[in-house]
Amino acid sequence: MEVTRTFIFGGGLLFFLILELLIPYRPSSVPRVTRWFNNLGIAVFNSIILNLLFAPFIMQTIAYVHTRQRGVLNLWPLQYWVKVLATVVFLDLILYVWHLLNHEVPFFWRFHRVHHSDLNMDVSTASRFHIGELSISAVIKIGLIFFLGADLFGVFLFESLVVLTSQFHHSSLTVPVWFERLYWTLFVPPSMHRIHHSVVIKERNSNYGTIFSLWDRILETLLSQIDQARIKIGMGAYQNPEKIKLHHLLIMPFTKSVK
Ligand SMILES: [Zn+2]
Repeated sequence: MEVTRTFIFGGGLLFFLILELLIPYRPSSVPRVTRWFNNLGIAVFNSIILNLLFAPFIMQTIAYVHTRQRGVLNLWPLQYWVKVLATVVFLDLILYVWHLLNHEVPFFWRFHRVHHSDLNMDVSTASRFHIGELSISAVIKIGLIFFLGADLFGVFLFESLVVLTSQFHHSSLTVPVWFERLYWTLFVPPSMHRIHHSVVIKERNSNYGTIFSLWDRILETLLSQIDQARIKIGMGAYQNPEKIKLHHLLIMPFTKSVK
């Protein structure tokens, strides 16, 4: 299980990195090596903590709801693929709400700003999260698995889609127009998520979707008519690369609050 997850993460990272080299969106404004060291360093740290603290509880919850047939999805005799689809769609909706709360609730924003403080956006940005945010996410996920009665494959598929779609929409890629139009009808393309990483706060507080673009459309948080060429990535408060190194990112939630 853990090997497959690492393979999906590593495979996606390599695949989108190669695409970024072949069809880049624009040159980096800060050296890529330092950003990659920070973003992958924090990813390794996070995966160790998450595997030690939360993975056993997630697996036990999945086993518990399976053996006792607990949860909303086990109330009716649904076909297996319906259960899996419902798991992915419902967990993505809650992820949308959770992401929105990360922007709107000052306490959560303290953690989520670690992700938004990246000065450029590429496939490595998809791994840049503070362990505090990921720990609260893991607790919410355990509660949702219990509520839904989600099974192992449903949760695994959701997590894999989150990793791969997130790596894609953070990538610095020139996506062909025809592909973007098609993909955008259901999912979140890089141009949509680029607006979410803008230094302009009004633009940042939009486009919260991870897998599906549906929630932003329905709940009216979609912003699309923005000139992509003038989008500046990052946060106004963190413009000096020397002040957002790995150790700064780890303590960032506990430093002074910034918008
Ligand atoms: Zn965000």
